[in-house]
Amino acid sequence: MTELVRPIPEITPELRPFFEGSRRGELVVQKCGNCGDLRFPPHRMCSKCLSRESSWTPVSGEGEVYSFIIMHRVYHPAFANQVPYAVAIIKLKEGAKMLSNVIGIDPHAIKCGMPVRVSFERLNDEVTLPMFRPVGS
Ligand SMILES: [Zn+2]
Repeated sequence: MTELVRPIPEITPELRPFFEGSRRGELVVQKCGNCGDLRFPPHRMCSKCLSRESSWTPVSGEGEVYSFIIMHRVYHPAFANQVPYAVAIIKLKEGAKMLSNVIGIDPHAIKCGMPVRVSFERLNDEVTLPMFRPVGS
């Protein structure tokens, strides 16, 4: 029987520092070189001050559930045994928001404002994705 392979995100040049960070267990976001605003996903220009200067900076990996949905429908056969699962916007302690998954909890028990911490989930040799687990789980 052939095992279904879940879709793996493509490592684009823009996202390479993010994926390299995740692979070594470090959550990084883009930081404006002028005003210091943190953002994710990366953009060429800062939406606060319009500067094009930026770098990548590590963050704590702590945050809270800002908003979430629960996926019940199977949009890709590789996810058939994973529904229901949560797709969430995580507000990082440092301010940036990140789209991710909340794992390690019944998705129906997730609440907005719930404290979460990053959990690096290895998909293959190249790609490790930062997902989030409730603090204390
Ligand atoms: Zn800026």
